[in-house]
Amino acid sequence: VLGVTGDSDALHHALARIVGAEHVRPAGASSPWVRDATISRGVHGRADAAVLPGSPAEVAEVVAWCYRHDVPIVPRGGGTGYAGGAVPIDGGVVVALERLRAVRELSPLQWRMHAEAGLTTAHVARLCRENGMLFAPDPGAAEQSQLGGNIATNAGGPHTFKYGVTGAWVTGLEAVIAPGELITIGGPVRKDVSGYDIRALLAGSEGTLGIITAAWLKLLPAPEARLPIAAAFAGHRQGCDVVAAIMGSGLVPAAIEYLDGGALRVAAAPFPAPLPPGAGFMVIAEADGTTAQARALRAELTELLCEEAVAVHAPQDAAGIDALWRWRSGVALAVTARRGGKVSEDIAVPLDRLAEAIEEVVEIAARHGLEGCSWGHAGDGNVHATFAVDRSAAELDAADRAADELFALALRLGGTISGEHGIGMLKRAALQHQFSPPVLGLQAAIRLAFDPKGLFNPGKKVPLPGD
Ligand SMILES: Cc1cc2nc3c(=O)[nH]c(=O)nc-3n(C[C@H](O)[C@H](O)[C@H](O)COP(=O)(O)OP(=O)(O)OC[C@H]3O[C@@H](n4cnc5c(N)ncnc54)[C@H](O)[C@@H]3O)c2cc1C
Repeated sequence: VLGVTGDSDALHHALARIVGAEHVRPAGASSPWVRDATISRGVHGRADAAVLPGSPAEVAEVVAWCYRHDVPIVPRGGGTGYAGGAVPIDGGVVVALERLRAVRELSPLQWRMHAEAGLTTAHVARLCRENGMLFAPDPGAAEQSQLGGNIATNAGGPHTFKYGVTGAWVTGLEAVIAPGELITIGGPVRKDVSGYDIRALLAGSEGTLGIITAAWLKLLPAPEARLPIAAAFAGHRQGCDVVAAIMGSGLVPAAIEYLDGGALRVAAAPFPAPLPPGAGFMVIAEADGTTAQARALRAELTELLCEEAVAVHAPQDAAGIDALWRWRSGVALAVTARRGGKVSEDIAVPLDRLAEAIEEVVEIAARHGLEGCSWGHAGDGNVHATFAVDRSAAELDAADRAADELFALALRLGGTISGEHGIGMLKRAALQHQFSPPVLGLQAAIRLAFDPKGLFNPGKKVPLPGD
């Protein structure tokens, strides 16, 4: 899909003049630049080149060149996305942000940070922690995912139950928009209602409105203590009743996570405490705050959890607490390892429909001859519904059909087809069932207002007329 002349040499020379020849990489079907976490379901793409600009000005020059020559532009962060958003469908230039790693300002007294898009999520969180601050969004693959990718997907994670998704932490953005302009929206100012909220539009835009090069983050004091409790239950009904009881009590844990029976079985071996044979569901709730607040909240949460639990694990020391969260982070990998692949979706439903959604994931899988399980962010009604596959064409097809049923279920229960991973290339067909024609029209109009030529991440997120 070379717009210029189809001349790949011309494209490579032009890009090399901007970023340096060593920062232009081949991006054929076997290259790492054309895949993301959806490789576990066999998804990959092809591009004409991947470029690694070294500054926002170089990003702007690359975009200007691509826009002039009608070449598609695919922004790329850490490539951990679960919707194929960073996978180039068929040609164009992948623009990888990993060299943009400057921390432009870190200001503990102002509780803010100004950082470039290519810093990893873990690096941002670590810098904050070392300075007594909290950056709470914690999507799973934090050592690899990037700040820009987190903003572009409006990523969540366990602790966004209390603290909000990534967009809630962003007061300003620097971005490159068509036809190659470096712009700034907002900044260190904490309130700003002048004009439409372009910052909010870019958060979750999945690379379709522009390339985020830097962000201003507003931060919070780091909690002095974090005290998680993992409670095992006989089944999902008991576990979901307890989640409902916690919500109804008005207590505000930092996180309320769950694993259903299937996920728990697959991930059980390395769980850092003994699990009774009857454990068929798990809830992990975390209390945080000052040490006294966290202890008091943990006591109240434990009381609620213990009403139905068959086992409770409440680590006291830092090593035990880290071990529990490390185990939780490994659940996705353990489920992938079960059969070599997985098709995982991230529907979200109203909390009073959570038990129904969890139950039906397993039933949908069985109807398609697959093993199904789920885990996720119970407090947000966010269900990581997963079908284990051996990556054969037959099982991948069955899983795609199961995913379609899953999306229909999410909408029937009053929810959404994506609570946090985004639409990317994989969920676009389902979007037309979630949005009415006027809403789809409005979404397309917003996209075209930013990108009249439709060159930013074509084939992803919101369809354009004629797609
Ligand atoms: C094991 C595991 C667990 C996960 N758990 C969670 C979770 O709990 N919650 C959650 O929300 N997600 C989760 N994810 C999904 C993923 O980690 C997040 O969506 C993450 O924020 C994506 O960041 P990335 O840098 O890897 O983006 P990429 O995968 O590189 O890109 C994602 C999308 O953002 C666009 N993009 C990337 N960078 C930019 C930029 N600078 N400017 C404009 N557009 C850009 C891309 O074009 C693409 O559409 C998980 C993934 C894995 C592998």
